[in-house]
Amino acid sequence: MAPCKKLTIMVDPIDLTNCDREPIHIPGAIQPHGVLLVLHDPTLEILQVSSNTRTLLGLAPEDLLGQSLSKLFSAGQIQQIRQGLAEDFESLNPLQLSVDQGERSRHFDGIVHCIDSVIILELEPRGDLQSPDFIDFYHQVRGVITHIQKAPSLQAMGQVVVKEVRRMTGFDRVMVYQFDETGAGSVIAEDTHQDEPYLGLRYPATDIPNQARHLYTLNWLRLIPQSQYEPVPLVPALNPVTQAPLNLSLAVLRSVSPLHREYLRNMGVAASMSISLIKNQQVWGLIACHHNEPNYIPYDIRTACEFIGQVMSVELDNKAASEDIDYKMHVKSRLTEFVNALSQADHFLDGMARLDTQLLGLVNATGAIVCSGNQCIGFGQTPHDDDINALLDWIKPRFDQGLFKTQCLMQDYPAAAAYKDIASGVLGLEISSIHRNFMLWFRPEVIQTVNWGGNPNKPVEIAADGSLRLSPRQSFELWQETVKGTSLPWKASEIEAVQELRNLIVGIVLRQADELALMNYKLQRSNEELDSFAYIASHDLKEPLRGIHNYANFLMEDYSEVLDQDGVAKLQTLVRLTQRMEDLINSLLHFSRLDRAELQPQPVDLNDLVQQVTATLKIARSQNDIEFRIPQPLPQVPCDRTQVTELFTNLISNAIKYNDKAHKWIEVGAIDPSEAPPPDSSPITASPVFYVRDNGIGIPPQFTDKIFQIFRRLHGRDDYGGGTGAGLTIARKVVERHGGRIWVKSTPGEGSTFFLTLSPEKTI
Ligand code: ADP
Repeated sequence: MAPCKKLTIMVDPIDLTNCDREPIHIPGAIQPHGVLLVLHDPTLEILQVSSNTRTLLGLAPEDLLGQSLSKLFSAGQIQQIRQGLAEDFESLNPLQLSVDQGERSRHFDGIVHCIDSVIILELEPRGDLQSPDFIDFYHQVRGVITHIQKAPSLQAMGQVVVKEVRRMTGFDRVMVYQFDETGAGSVIAEDTHQDEPYLGLRYPATDIPNQARHLYTLNWLRLIPQSQYEPVPLVPALNPVTQAPLNLSLAVLRSVSPLHREYLRNMGVAASMSISLIKNQQVWGLIACHHNEPNYIPYDIRTACEFIGQVMSVELDNKAASEDIDYKMHVKSRLTEFVNALSQADHFLDGMARLDTQLLGLVNATGAIVCSGNQCIGFGQTPHDDDINALLDWIKPRFDQGLFKTQCLMQDYPAAAAYKDIASGVLGLEISSIHRNFMLWFRPEVIQTVNWGGNPNKPVEIAADGSLRLSPRQSFELWQETVKGTSLPWKASEIEAVQELRNLIVGIVLRQADELALMNYKLQRSNEELDSFAYIASHDLKEPLRGIHNYANFLMEDYSEVLDQDGVAKLQTLVRLTQRMEDLINSLLHFSRLDRAELQPQPVDLNDLVQQVTATLKIARSQNDIEFRIPQPLPQVPCDRTQVTELFTNLISNAIKYNDKAHKWIEVGAIDPSEAPPPDSSPITASPVFYVRDNGIGIPPQFTDKIFQIFRRLHGRDDYGGGTGAGLTIARKVVERHGGRIWVKSTPGEGSTFFLTLSPEKTI
């Protein structure tokens, strides 16, 4: 049993393309049911003939070669042929021609065309003189065309066609045969009176060689009234004008390949006719007719059948389009839901997470993953995380214009055999390689049984002398192949849908980026304005405040004897308040200066920096009862030394201040983002994350954001050593100027941990 369809074919060492090299358009012979004349252009002198002229025309080839056409036809008929050549001979074919043979005349359908600077006239004997007229033809096909057009589906249309063609021709079996992208074909419609149905059978691509497919596009109908015929050679063998074998691509009598005749014999077919079905200039399929006895179909009936084939060819697009239309509507409404969800979400992954079933339904998948940066979210059935990571690494270089698709993953990526029940089919979309945004959809293995018309892998015979001979298959018995490790194929419309999804996502993300840029610009402007206001206000307020302060002091010094006790107490409060106001203004001024000073990043050893800060604080507070811990050496990071010193000074001094324990400890460290509790739903991707932890009084949860606001204190003015409430605002400013974030996690009564990063986040 083959694991995959393609593998089965790949392991076969025989080169099946030999057939593809047979020059079937120049066989040098015709089928015996007609006669072929090659005429000089324009004299109509007979240059080459098929060697059966005596049987059908009563004259040996040597009696005709070099002769004028008048040897066979009357002046009137020759005139008719000339007229045909001057006009559009295709619409005049067949010409009604008669050749006098002694007592009686023999009637022929004359089919004329020009090729390689000669004229080819083919004659097929017909029973009577009666010529089919347009009305006959119209009646033959009128009803069929209406039925073809009304058929609701491709299958239904195929069924109409096979029934009608069989009615018109009397063949034992008429089928519509559709090729897939590998060139293999399957029977999708059939009309027969025979017991054994061929419907649903598949035939390997090698059954029809490439050059035959090419001829199918040139010549839409081929008839072999009797497959076991003796080919009739042309005399002379070469075309006397070109000195090359005569090109019979467009000849209706062209002798077919001996391999094809053997193929038909093996199939038990005595007569066959096939009509091309063409879509976008490619052979889409065939109307194939088989008969167990010889069966000649007159030219006019053939023309009617060919016309049906043409109508069906035109309708192929319409039928496919109408079958597609429901699916397209469904995709459109899904995509609208995507746009809504994505536009409302701040983050690509958040938006996608809301789309669960829609995401799978878009391409009828059973599982999907959406990745952004290092994060992936899964839907439905997906392989394990490790397998997904390895698979993504393998797929990334294989995206072709942002798309990856396979129906049999394990064929190229053997590790996938382990999870073929989940992901035999993979459809991948690369949305942004920079932001590492990918989507993968999965489909499980579907164990399929393919019914081949005979073993597709045995077109080769070993001859008695041991040599290999490529021959058409001997057996057309039903041959079943089990296809494993393969999912249902991804339809073209599904691939289109995911491509459309990518365009939508890129559009939304770009629009969001634009909006964000605009908001940032406005925010920056108003921040700048606020900063300069704070700076000017604090700077200008300082001077009159100093004046008030000094005058209050003068009053106390010079008039304390004149004032009563109450007056002195009020003056003292005034001095204290001005002092406090000055502290506040100084903090504000300092804060607004932070932004004005240009950031001077340089590699800073934070170990050193924190040691210095703690040493200074210890001296300033002369407190030796505090335990400072740095569990692991801190890294060196690029930052502004002065500002980061201030940052750690504020955090560590708060940790000392807001601590009522007998044994106080403070710990400073650096950890991986994955170890830090994130501030909100957006993950931390900047590394490392620093922290300052204490066993102090802690902060109630409702204040963990508010404490970063300027002048915001949670205590009385002078409690816990007092303060202006600007320390954490300054700390946040420093962190943000470095592109980082600061947040706190705390348990009241037990302690607080301030986390911070000093570099921008890495992904969207
Ligand atoms: P200040 O210390 O001057 O009041 P900050 O801006 O540094 O101003 O701090 C604001 C408030 O946050 C403090 O008044 C205090 O209530 C609270 N706070 C700051 N750090 C801590 C800490 N480590 N433990 C408990 N509370 C703290």
